Order: sequence, then structure tokens, then C-alpha cells
Amino acid sequence: MSVIPPGSWLGLLGGGQLGRMFSMAAQAMGYRVAVLDPAADGPAASVADRHIHADYLDRAGLARLASLVSAATTEFENVPSAALDFLAKSVRVAPGAASVAIAQDRISEKMFLSGHGFPVAPYAVLRSPDDVASLDASLLPGIVKSARLGYDGKGQVRVATRDEAAAAFDTLGRVPAVLERFVDLAVEVSSIVARDDADAVAAWPIAENRHRDGILDVTILPARIEPALALRAADLAAALARALDYRGILCVELFVTRAGALLVNEIAPRPHNSGHATIDACLTSQFEQQVRVLAGLPLGSTTQHTPAVMVNLLGDAWYPDATATQRREPVWERVLAHPRAKLHLYGKHEARRGRKMGHVTCLGATVDEALATARAVKRDLGIPGADELV
Ligand code: AMP
Repeated sequence: MSVIPPGSWLGLLGGGQLGRMFSMAAQAMGYRVAVLDPAADGPAASVADRHIHADYLDRAGLARLASLVSAATTEFENVPSAALDFLAKSVRVAPGAASVAIAQDRISEKMFLSGHGFPVAPYAVLRSPDDVASLDASLLPGIVKSARLGYDGKGQVRVATRDEAAAAFDTLGRVPAVLERFVDLAVEVSSIVARDDADAVAAWPIAENRHRDGILDVTILPARIEPALALRAADLAAALARALDYRGILCVELFVTRAGALLVNEIAPRPHNSGHATIDACLTSQFEQQVRVLAGLPLGSTTQHTPAVMVNLLGDAWYPDATATQRREPVWERVLAHPRAKLHLYGKHEARRGRKMGHVTCLGATVDEALATARAVKRDLGIPGADELV
């Protein structure tokens, strides 16, 4: 493809924090950004050069975006693929609608992965009560996950028996789902890669992820895993990007089992929360790389220059304790008193519990040093789990 030079307009479907950080990276390189977002004043719209306030399937809104921009991407994986197809008739779109559609649906994702030989946890597709009744007992205990619109542990129910699986299927509204066998996890990691039109692939170091209540809590970069395992994880993500003929930033979330196997949990066709530390810790961030791929520019180096631990800031940090109903502003100067803590806030007006409001990237000469700062930041902000963060 020909290069889209700085000064051009880039388009973005979705207006959350991923779009905000994409916009900032694009603007730093001289691009102008138009965001199509149905929300009135989302995190990306407030920094983008233009906000098209329209629904993802609003033809007039999409047509306005298409007439303005040279290329478009997405920051929200549940953007209807029809919107990407519509844009692709007149502008460059990356990643393509087909890749996004596969990642939007756990059934198509699992079928794609297992069909292409990528390891996944044993699973069964549930479309009807009959599917639940005939479940193979070897899949239990497991987790029933709705096929669509599940994220951050939403749309998931843990089950130990067929009866519980049947109840979970009912609770989820009898929507298409998968039952996945419960895996004995040693650690959860993610491998984020960028792939461009010329089939160049660049992988960041593997990230080690800790969740709390189904939401990413902390990412340690690089993951403290054996180099051979890290290489396997990076190779797997690169092979997956190729199998999808993917263009853009792809995050592959992986389970490492106690037996040492790597299993793909899910894929995200966009930059990922577990890659936020790349802004402060790597030569090229996942957002700058997203701009580069979209604009047809060479990939930047993904080399990590500083060990880092990212702490997610949920709305809970705005409440003095777990039961409080009154919010107050966190004491940011306490966080920033750690000279190697980098604060990123997404400009969201309302701090609701469980809502991603920002993150702090703690840098250090070593991962242990970064961890020590991350523990201190957690304590400063009243975020649980400081002591377990080792
Ligand atoms: P997901 O939304 O599929 O990423 O699941 C959210 C979290 O639930 C994961 O990050 C894991 O911590 C846990 N989880 C999901 N599936 C499994 C599984 N099959 N076995 C064990 N833990 C799981």
C-alpha cells in the first residue's frame, strides 16, 4: 500500500480509552483523528480532532467518516463488522472485518483457533438445552461463557455439574455459549504483536497478567517466565496473526497451565489493556504501532527499555472504602511522589466501581523495583492486593 503521510486524517470506530491513546499517538506523529463514537463525550472524542457523534451502523455518520479520512481502524471489538465493510468500500480499513468478526464471537474464535491447530482449553459449543444435556463429563468443572459481548469476566458462570451448566445456560438467557473446561493455571500472559501489509511482524515482550474479579488488575512487563516459553508465546501470536491475515495490533491472551502447556484464552483485534505499559517501557508503544500499520509506515522497534508494572485504576479508587457511596478524588500527588510512576487518566467524568478510569505504569531498574513501586501505589490509592503483588 502507499504511505498515508502525516497531516492526513485517520479514522477510528469507538471512543474509549484505547481510542484516546491511539489519537494521542497519531497526533504526536502529525496526523489528525476523527472518532466515530455513539457516546457524547467519551475518552477519545475529547482529544480527537473531530467527533462524529453517530451510531456504528448509521450510514450518514459512516459516510462522513469515510469522506474525511484516508484510513480507519477500530478500538472496540464489538463494532459491527458491517461498519468496517461499509468503510472498506472507500478507505483503507485495518484490521479487516473478517478478523474482527472472528474475535467477536467465542464460538467462531474457538473454531478458528482449533481449526488452525492453535491450542485451546477443551470446550463444547452450547446452542440449545440438548447441547447442555449431552455435555461430555470430562469438560467439568468448567466455565460457561456467552459467545458474544462478554468481556472482563462478564457473561461467565463457573459450573461443576451438568445441572449447574443447564442453570447457567438459562441464566445467560439461552444465548449461544461455550463451556470451557476449568484449566489449572500457573500464570496468565498475553502476547501482543503487530503485523503490517508486507507481512512484517513485531512482537512486544510477553506480559504477565493478574486479574481481580475478572478484570485486569496488574500487568508485569516482561513476564517472569522461561525464555523458551516466552518465545513459544510470541511465535504462537505471530502465527495466529498470519493465519488471520491480520493487519494491525493483535493481542493473544494465553493461559500457561501447571503442566507447562500454552492455551489461547481469547484474542483481541486491537491494542489491549495488558499492553499499556508499552507507552512508557518500550521504544514503540502499541498505539504508535497501530498508527504506523494503519498509515503504511514501517513498524517501530518493540524493544523494552525499562522494566515495568502497570496498575489499573478502577473507579473503586475514587471511594474511600469498599462500602462507601460518596466519591472523592484520589490523592494523585501521593502517586506522583514516586518519581518513576507514570499516571495515565482517561478523562472519564464518572468514576463508577469496576470502570477503567486510568492506569499507573511503575518503572524500575528491575522488575522487582517496579513491583515495589506498584505495591506502594496500590497502598496509596487503597487498591486491594498490594501484599500479594510479588
Ligand atoms: P475471559 O473473559 O475468558 O478472559 O476470562 C476471564 C478470566 O477468568 C481469565 O482471565 C481467567 O482468569 C479466568 N478463566 C477463564 N477461563 C478459564 C478457564 N477455562 N480455566 C481457568 N480460568 C479461566
